[in-house]
Amino acid sequence: MTGADPIVRFAGVSKTFVVGTGRSRREVTAVEDVTLDIRRGEIFGVIGYSGAGKSTLVRLINGLEPVTSGTVEVDGRRVDGRTEPQLASLRRDIGMIFQQFNLFTSRTVAGNVEYPLKRAGWPKERRRQRVAELLEFVGLSERARNYPEQLSGGQKQRVGIARALASNPKLLLADESTSALDPETTQEVLQVLQRVNRELGITIVLITHEMEVVRAIADRVAVMENGRVVEHGSTAEVFSRPSTQTARRFVSSVMHTEPGPDEVERLRRTHHGRLVSVDVRDDTDIGGILSDGVTRGVRFTIAFGGISVLQEQSFGALTFELQGADDAVDQVVAELARVTTVREVAA
Ligand code: ADP
Repeated sequence: MTGADPIVRFAGVSKTFVVGTGRSRREVTAVEDVTLDIRRGEIFGVIGYSGAGKSTLVRLINGLEPVTSGTVEVDGRRVDGRTEPQLASLRRDIGMIFQQFNLFTSRTVAGNVEYPLKRAGWPKERRRQRVAELLEFVGLSERARNYPEQLSGGQKQRVGIARALASNPKLLLADESTSALDPETTQEVLQVLQRVNRELGITIVLITHEMEVVRAIADRVAVMENGRVVEHGSTAEVFSRPSTQTARRFVSSVMHTEPGPDEVERLRRTHHGRLVSVDVRDDTDIGGILSDGVTRGVRFTIAFGGISVLQEQSFGALTFELQGADDAVDQVVAELARVTTVREVAA
């Protein structure tokens, strides 16, 4: 369902907050010069460490924060420079879910889902039908009369999703929507989000600091650091060719393809040759280079690594120990570097 037609467009967007007063007054740049399109029908992940500017970027989409410079368009309409009443109409097309669910504790499950419909002035019978439909979609029909405190975390987030979908939005913003959940419940909520996207055709912008979440359901991803988008592309591209240190760290957090500091220490103890990590992709002939090396007396041992498939492409990394005459080993490393990314594993 991913077309090139953008539903959200950021053009040269920056957002600066002023904090403190008087002499302690200073500016914090939360988002800096972001130009990015989110395509209609996709699940778009925004990943980055805490403080990278992800939440601020997403709050610019529904005008919860005004931009400092640049323009934001949603579905062909400018968000920046609008008055609150104009924003209210725009926000009807945008649903949002949160890490802490933000449910009304004093309302039932049905009451929570019904709330936005009441505010939008829907008549009672239509509200009742719509709530029943939504609760069925998220698998909570039996829980309609329960209160949030009687639900598990995953169920609460499903109520949050049902409420966000109540008025048929075109776009759903999910801000760390699985961060308060255990891994199993995370999967349950991600499956619901995937159905929201596939069955209802709703574009989802998913903010997270967990690469596993991006891997599970995002079609494309933007990596943020210090307010900037430092790389973006299809999830498979970013996983197979992370070009920044930050993206590389996120990828290896999920893939375990590169040895971490403890593993490097152990590898160093057991392998005394030259250790190099190489990126593996469908189109790289690493085996051929290594076997040529063997004919020149370079022995290799596979010491660490993993290869996986995402969006129908193979990618991963392998760490080799190479042993032999220095110049022959150098030649193998140079040949590898010609076809893929090679990193020396530091002692
Ligand atoms: P993330 O979602 O990636 O954790 P945020 O967008 O929340 O990042 O924050 C980015 C930066 O902007 C941080 O330095 C944060 O302290 C600052 N920031 C965010 N919101 C505000 C605000 N309302 N006032 C002042 N500073 C803010």
